[in-house]
Amino acid sequence: SQHNPVVEKDCSSITPPYAKLTKNLDLVKRILDNRPLTLAEKVVYSHLTNPEETIPVRGETYLKLSPDRVAMQDASAQMALLQFMLSGMPTTAVPSSIHCDHLIAANEGADKDVAESIIANKEIFDFLESGAKKYGVAFWKPGSGIIHQIVLENYAAPGGLMLGTDSHTPNAGGLGMVAIGVGGADAVDAMAAIPWELKAPNVIGVKLTGSLGPWASPKDVILKMAGLLTVRGGTGHIIEYFGEGVDTLSCTGMATMCNMGAEVGATTSLFPYTTSMRSYLNSTGRRAVSTAADANSQFLRADAGAHYDKIIEINLSEIEPHINGPFTPDLSTPLSKFKDFIAENGWKDDLTSSLIGSCTNSSYQDMSRAASMAKQATDAGVDIKSQFLVTPGSEQIRATIERDGQQLVFENAGGQVLANACGPCIGQWKRTEKKGEENAILTSFNRNFRSRNDGNSQTMNFLAAPEIVTAMAFAGKLSFNPMTDSLKDKNGKEFRFNPPTGDDLPHQGFEAGRATYEPPSPTPTPDASVQISIDPKSNRLQALDPFQPWNGEEFKDIRVLVKVKGKCTTDHISAAGPWLKFKGHLQNIAENTLIGAQNADNGKVNLVTDVTNNKEDTIPEVAKSYKSQDIEWTVIADHNYGEGSAREHAALQVRYLGSPLIISRSFARIHETNLKKQGVLPLTFKNDSDYEKINGGDVIETQGLKNLAPGSPVKLIVTKPDGSKLSIDAVHTLSEDQLQWIREGSALNLIKKNVAA
Ligand code: SF4
Repeated sequence: SQHNPVVEKDCSSITPPYAKLTKNLDLVKRILDNRPLTLAEKVVYSHLTNPEETIPVRGETYLKLSPDRVAMQDASAQMALLQFMLSGMPTTAVPSSIHCDHLIAANEGADKDVAESIIANKEIFDFLESGAKKYGVAFWKPGSGIIHQIVLENYAAPGGLMLGTDSHTPNAGGLGMVAIGVGGADAVDAMAAIPWELKAPNVIGVKLTGSLGPWASPKDVILKMAGLLTVRGGTGHIIEYFGEGVDTLSCTGMATMCNMGAEVGATTSLFPYTTSMRSYLNSTGRRAVSTAADANSQFLRADAGAHYDKIIEINLSEIEPHINGPFTPDLSTPLSKFKDFIAENGWKDDLTSSLIGSCTNSSYQDMSRAASMAKQATDAGVDIKSQFLVTPGSEQIRATIERDGQQLVFENAGGQVLANACGPCIGQWKRTEKKGEENAILTSFNRNFRSRNDGNSQTMNFLAAPEIVTAMAFAGKLSFNPMTDSLKDKNGKEFRFNPPTGDDLPHQGFEAGRATYEPPSPTPTPDASVQISIDPKSNRLQALDPFQPWNGEEFKDIRVLVKVKGKCTTDHISAAGPWLKFKGHLQNIAENTLIGAQNADNGKVNLVTDVTNNKEDTIPEVAKSYKSQDIEWTVIADHNYGEGSAREHAALQVRYLGSPLIISRSFARIHETNLKKQGVLPLTFKNDSDYEKINGGDVIETQGLKNLAPGSPVKLIVTKPDGSKLSIDAVHTLSEDQLQWIREGSALNLIKKNVAA
């Protein structure tokens, strides 16, 4: 295809506002008596909305932050955009982008799959594209690439703060950005200029020394770390790398490590600014960003003597390739012990499919090193023994490996290059293996929970570096160790792999690729005249109606729909799985409201009594019945109601079905805030044991809402079915700003009012 080199970009909306950030940081440092700060703290605190008003304490203070940028993938962008439409704003407050990647299947091959996915998801893509045009959001078409790879190639910048509606957003930490995976509600905050809240994270310092040997790659470092930290070890922490080993790593390799920091539960992962970041910025058309970063290099590294909450030391020279899994990313086995591990567990030795690429591992370096393995084997006449699939992370990568020959090497080996999209990584993969049949796959992806890739719970899914995956594809056996074992060529001659080789960056620069995937302008102009396309008959998309403002009166006749016993996560309130296809349709997804909740009165899940007819039914059915009769309702919840994810649907749905308040023993903080944003009043029992006094079917009336103020008490007058009454004390945590959300009916109603004024 035609030569189409990547050109220098307009970096005005990409370069972080270093002057402002360093000024903010000076203010914070003064407050903190100039104690040395980690890089994570420097970047996060410099994005405080009111730096002069905050005393950040790690693990304690809730920070109000102003992110620089938002990125959204096609599944989670739907509700974010639908909500943003309610703000009345003509454009997003910060540069934002939408990436069509998750909805693309891997069935027949790149071109056909993209074309078919566009037909199957036309209404979603049309909606996202029209919304993007209207509000000046960069729209990346289906097939242009995977969100995190596109962000790394185009938008990530050292010292910036980005929110992305996807868990692997931390990938941009490879370019020194604090990039955090969030729910759609948080993206809406940033787009609507509502300060975004984050508890000041603790910081795990990872000191890297030495340099990687020829067989090891950055993927192996994070695979090993996943084993050390486990899937929960990073929770509430930013993982910050430092030490001289950092300077030996490629920018894209660091991105792989940050990407998989999500697998240990870290808020995000981060590297200091390095020369490899500079080279990557320059080769991807962002010299203006690297020049500005060079001038602010002091800001882009930790202060000498900075304190970490925990330090892990890793000598890169001692890292050997690892293979993690099956079914969890923290089950980490060194390659040299993998053969025994398989045998000890009695698992089948056959490798059925080998997959490389995805957002985690499709850099030029990954592709080159993987191709070097494939080339050695094919040159020696060794045939590939397993299915071999390659998912380039972006059109830029695909076009560059097409030009430089790696793609041909993969194809000559019998590999198939799939669309630049998530495909098999997110389960959009058509396989011939029978469901329920044990089989093993090896991928260079990041996640491997059961059934993730192909919906088959018996697929043993292992994670490894792309070069290891590729080499093992030629053996077709899990017991094969490419570092030590040999294979037979066509003539029966012994063949052994040499270590992988490959360049970090292409000598001839990157190719931009096909014109179909021409990148959108970094600063698209909003066009108010665009009509956002939503088919009123769609069952996947539905425009949102603004919630009604509160009349300022006490709540009366609130029916207890259900008293929930025990754990009630956002997954119990708004289940995922098959419901995900309704993410953009509030009415349809509301059919799953609280279906995972256990009724404390009868011990049953999703079974309550409709007091208007005394019949038992599911929670959503009774909620709908109450709604149709204009009966407002509430949930009595146990401890930590709404823990789990930031899923905003969990708050939107209860509000949509007619609940103006939720009363609990305690709330998970993010969900509590999400409820407030949707105009639902979260109340907590003053005396924990009062939870025992209320039951399903009771009627509640409030006292104290008329004069609601920060810290003011609220009384609940509960009428039992026999007419007896009791009074219960409750408390709320609304700030003055949040009170306005409740008054206006939602945070977005408030924004709209302010925009109109
Ligand atoms: Fe998520 Fe996989 Fe897509 Fe990456 S490639 S964004 S991990 S689904």
